[in-house]
Amino acid sequence: MSGVGKGVATSSIGKILQSRGFRVTALKIDPYINVDAGTMNPIEHGEVFVTEDGDECDQDIGNYERFLNINIYKDNYLTTGRVYEAVIRKERNLEYGGRCVEVVPDIPNEVISRIKTAAKKAKADFVLVEIGGTVGEYQNLLFLEAGRMMKLAKPKDVIFVLLSYAPIPSKLGEMKTKPTQWAARTLNSSGIQPDILLVRSERPMDELRKRKLSVFCNMRPEDIISAPDIESIYEIPLNFEKGKLSNIILKKFGLKLKKENLIDWKKMVSVIKNPKRKIKIAIAGKYFRSGKFTLMDSYISVIEAIKHAAYSFNAAPEITWIDTEKYEKTPKKLKALKNFDAVIVPGGFGSRGVEGKIRVIEYCRKNKIPFLGLCYGMQLAVIEFARHVCGLKDANSTEINPKTKNPVIDIMTEQKEKIKEKKYGGTMRLGAYACEIKTNGIAYKAYRNSKNFSRLAGGNLIIFERHRHRYEFNNKYKELLEKKGLKITGINPELNLVEIIEIKNHPFFIAVQFHPEFKSRPLFPHPLFRELIKVALK
Ligand code: GLN
Repeated sequence: MSGVGKGVATSSIGKILQSRGFRVTALKIDPYINVDAGTMNPIEHGEVFVTEDGDECDQDIGNYERFLNINIYKDNYLTTGRVYEAVIRKERNLEYGGRCVEVVPDIPNEVISRIKTAAKKAKADFVLVEIGGTVGEYQNLLFLEAGRMMKLAKPKDVIFVLLSYAPIPSKLGEMKTKPTQWAARTLNSSGIQPDILLVRSERPMDELRKRKLSVFCNMRPEDIISAPDIESIYEIPLNFEKGKLSNIILKKFGLKLKKENLIDWKKMVSVIKNPKRKIKIAIAGKYFRSGKFTLMDSYISVIEAIKHAAYSFNAAPEITWIDTEKYEKTPKKLKALKNFDAVIVPGGFGSRGVEGKIRVIEYCRKNKIPFLGLCYGMQLAVIEFARHVCGLKDANSTEINPKTKNPVIDIMTEQKEKIKEKKYGGTMRLGAYACEIKTNGIAYKAYRNSKNFSRLAGGNLIIFERHRHRYEFNNKYKELLEKKGLKITGINPELNLVEIIEIKNHPFFIAVQFHPEFKSRPLFPHPLFRELIKVALK
């Protein structure tokens, strides 16, 4: 079933294999037709994660990167749309030599060849392939077929892990295994026998149910692993190891168990469980409503980046969501922001909630609350500064008001054409771009000592950060804004784009055109988030 944690389970399996000294990579298959996640509504799909090479993909790729501390690239993300697109392009190029191209085997073969390419590029000992969706649905059949064909070709090189959910209906108070039995049988009907069963549930599964599942799913009880809810996702690899999962997996491949190295990871988990300090962070964004439910998945990387940074200071963050639309109606409520140690305005699109976000930024600026703006958050900080410090009352982004007289944020030139031609998919400024850091601010302080995130080139401090935007700081306003106290502390050298802004006389006010959150890793927190937490803890 989708949403029960396949991504985190995949990442955790990767982590435990990696901790045994193997090279691991992971690949996500999303069954929908969209070529990537970039054109998808966050209500439908949660966060769009951006890779170093500019792929807009599922948030699980973010989980892989975070758990495995590796960069994942375009090759590792497949959708039905992407696979069909490639097959059709090859057919048009006569790459099938004029023969009849068919759904089976040509689609699964394309999938297999992509899995192999990803494995080769990563020089991986293990490739984890996560097939999205639910067993038994029509959409992911061809991907299961690819798995089946791979196993047929090399039985010793492929194993299948089925992740299921065992509900405990509250009126009953008893764990039910029927959906899992049914899932295993359904998988059987695709020609696949699961080798390992991970059973997600609220509470741990008992031996009685394990034995029952063993019979019904045609599996040894020891291959059935209970995966109950736990507080932190980072504890899951440790939990899997309690069930000796890496041992079970390696045995199935005929490989010897190597010594585990999870020392630093375990230390982090113990901080998560017993933090010395608490810190209160607000994320001021807009809410996404889906029927009667509110979805907050769209900022998962921001949340994780906050956590990583806080853990490194032995602190646990208490994150509060602030719906900025309420400040538009009742600005008095802004006072509540005083209760937070830091405020983040994350990325976003469109005009809903924007005026509220600008109010939040103004409040943080005036009341010296530590503030970090991300992408849209940076653009809105520029608008706020232009309006309230430089007196440009109607300053705006042309995304919000195309007719503004003071477009301090404007569409990038090359983006205009793309929009005119309705070329929306995968056309933003995407992926990693260079930014040169000036030596006079928070950014320099943050990046200077973090070799994982920056390097020196010709005496300049250079960083590469990931982007996803169409609009940019309008350089026509640079002189005026700088004169009034805006500090531009990061510039993209090729295009002279403003990447980082700060302001004078504030303990911590920084906003960036990129998304630092995508590069934060549990044991290597992002320097900007670290700096924010450091100041906030003070
Ligand atoms: N909407 C803004 C742009 O397109 C910001 C995008 C973002 O926050 N990712 O430039």
